[in-house]
Amino acid sequence: MLESLTADPTQQAVGYFDAGSVICYNNIDMTGVRSIDFLMAKDGSEGRFAILVGGNNLNDGNNLGEKITSATGGWNNYQLMKVGLSSQVSGNQTLCFLGLLGGGIFNLDKFTLSDVPGQNDGVSSNPDDGPVGGNQLPKITTQGNKVLFGGQQQSIAGMSLFWSNDGWGAEKYYNADVVRWLKQDWNIKLIRAAMGIEGRGGYLESPESNKARVKTIVNAAIENGLYVIIDWHSHNAETQKSQAIAFFSEMAETYGAYNNVIYEIYNEPLQVSWSGVIKPYAQDVIAAIRAKDPDNLIIVGTPSWSQKVDEASQDPISGVNIAYTLHFYSATHKQWLRDAATTALNRGIPLFVTEWGTVDAEAKGNVDTSETQAWMNFLKQNGISHANWSLHDKAEDGETASALAPGASINGGWNESQLTESGRLVRSIIKSW
Ligand code: MG
Repeated sequence: MLESLTADPTQQAVGYFDAGSVICYNNIDMTGVRSIDFLMAKDGSEGRFAILVGGNNLNDGNNLGEKITSATGGWNNYQLMKVGLSSQVSGNQTLCFLGLLGGGIFNLDKFTLSDVPGQNDGVSSNPDDGPVGGNQLPKITTQGNKVLFGGQQQSIAGMSLFWSNDGWGAEKYYNADVVRWLKQDWNIKLIRAAMGIEGRGGYLESPESNKARVKTIVNAAIENGLYVIIDWHSHNAETQKSQAIAFFSEMAETYGAYNNVIYEIYNEPLQVSWSGVIKPYAQDVIAAIRAKDPDNLIIVGTPSWSQKVDEASQDPISGVNIAYTLHFYSATHKQWLRDAATTALNRGIPLFVTEWGTVDAEAKGNVDTSETQAWMNFLKQNGISHANWSLHDKAEDGETASALAPGASINGGWNESQLTESGRLVRSIIKSW
């Protein structure tokens, strides 16, 4: 034991420690410190915090390790929790604890610096640092109506996250642990960051937080060797063109060299004209991306919630590596939509299903197993890649499209009982795709 400090000398404990909270201690001698023993109490769902020196945020500080906190049996039931440091520092430092995820991460009574090694739960990459390493995947190109991976037609399968908006409840799943688990346990090849643009807490209102969530997912995808869709998740992108151009220019500048990255520039247009509204928007956003990144796949939404791929196929966009979005919900969209997709393919445009559901188009109702199977057969036969909607635990308002049961861990590790009926079906489809 090196030194023991009371967390808050003026009170019994530090409380109300949430994501974004920070507490710092000046002039702490960190020489020889290999772990910190926290005397902490907690109730409720899991939280996560980081141990930093040299700064009180992930940009400025040196992140020595992070820990997931779980309930101790009550807010006054204090227990010891050892957290190992991933790297050691020496001399007098400003030592900070920063809340990363969750509310009520802990009540902290005291902490003791220790020279005994311990474990931690990893160090998240700082979104602004870019990915660490990177795992170059085969390049995606298009040729006629085919999407090629390293020159070969193939279809890949994965998951879409839910709207990223602040306070909508799905932002907790925008973390690297979720990406790692989906790769390890679901065998995903693709993850979609659905950056909510409109509405409360969306990108237009809160650009930095939403962009940081997207970058966290993109960095994690690159580090795990997965393809990742950066999705402008909007129903009115033609009214947001200047913001979309600025955003995608920055993404293309940052990530254009990584084969992992796919730009989806318009999630679901409403009932607007392809040639008069969507295509002109897409041409301008594509030009901005191509100024920075000449080749990564760009996917363009189509009229009527990305169903009118046949309309787009009558007036395609010129350029390289452009595909068109097809969305379906199995209990609503059936053979007639597969027929429209076949028409589009026959006219020579490549399709990409960036979003599909096992239930109805409202994301509600029963799982339609047989129609889902008919769709999967169609996608397989036609070499069309797909991402399921959605990786979220929302059950309110009858949302049955969610793959996770309410309260499922924010760090992955889900067993079957933490998946919904849709989640279990989708996992089995992706795992064996
Ligand atoms: Mg490129």
